[in-house]
Amino acid sequence: MYTCANCTVLACANNEPEKMPKNCPMRNASVMEAARAGYDLPENHDFYVNCSAIEGLGYCQWPRLKETVEFCKRMGYHKLGLAFCKGLRKEARIVADLRRAQGFEVVSVICKTGGISKEEVGIPEEVKIHPGEFEAMCNPIAQAKLLNEQHTDFNIEVGLCVGHDSMFYKYSDAMVTTLVAKDRVLAHNPCGAIYCAEGYFKKRLEYKKDKTCVLQNRWRTRVFLQKAVAWGLLVSYCLSGVHKNWYIIRAMRQNSKKGIDKSLFRVYSRVVKWIHYQRLDIKI
Ligand code: SF4
Repeated sequence: MYTCANCTVLACANNEPEKMPKNCPMRNASVMEAARAGYDLPENHDFYVNCSAIEGLGYCQWPRLKETVEFCKRMGYHKLGLAFCKGLRKEARIVADLRRAQGFEVVSVICKTGGISKEEVGIPEEVKIHPGEFEAMCNPIAQAKLLNEQHTDFNIEVGLCVGHDSMFYKYSDAMVTTLVAKDRVLAHNPCGAIYCAEGYFKKRLEYKKDKTCVLQNRWRTRVFLQKAVAWGLLVSYCLSGVHKNWYIIRAMRQNSKKGIDKSLFRVYSRVVKWIHYQRLDIKI
């Protein structure tokens, strides 16, 4: 396994091959040779030389916005694709206007194109931002295919969600560069959390607090409630409520309506105990 992220030798960057660590990837000669040959391919050579030139020409002087345009000019691109997030549509408009003023033709496609509801592709109600309401899914495949159909020379990605960006890269015919990496919390500066990972952001970055864990907990809640019904602990439950608290509250109300109030508190306390035992993030 390669662990460059933890290497302190940097034999690669310092031209000191004799100092290579034991698990240095440079010891894998066949992969290294194949990669080196890749830069000689006609489809890669000029692209790679030009983007490397941009690195040197604007080093610590040009913001990425300028680096991108200088690269496009060097490559002789004319028609640019702009795949952007709805949440960054004002920024996308500024970028599109700037590029047009610089002589480029710009085709832009928003992430919500198609207007397809999230349910239609199997996104569960409980992970929507506003459960119970219409939410258009992000559609990175359509963004890529529409730009492909327009034969863009190069595509610029502005703030697509994590994973949606990956799908856009996968389906885009033209090469893609990311102008904005979306981070809704940090003004699209993901490094902010990295810089503060040992300090202010430490708790926020803990596994138990992250979204994956919350979703797992919701899933476990769903399974528990289903079992609780099967065991006769709950008469029924509701998973379409706007908030997870409603799972419990509605179950209690439904129990009341069925006239089994005596068992209500027993059921309620078992649910509460289970929630605390599982350390679920549910307020009652
Ligand atoms: S390539 Fe080798 S020398 Fe360079 S960072 Fe990785 S392990 Fe260290």
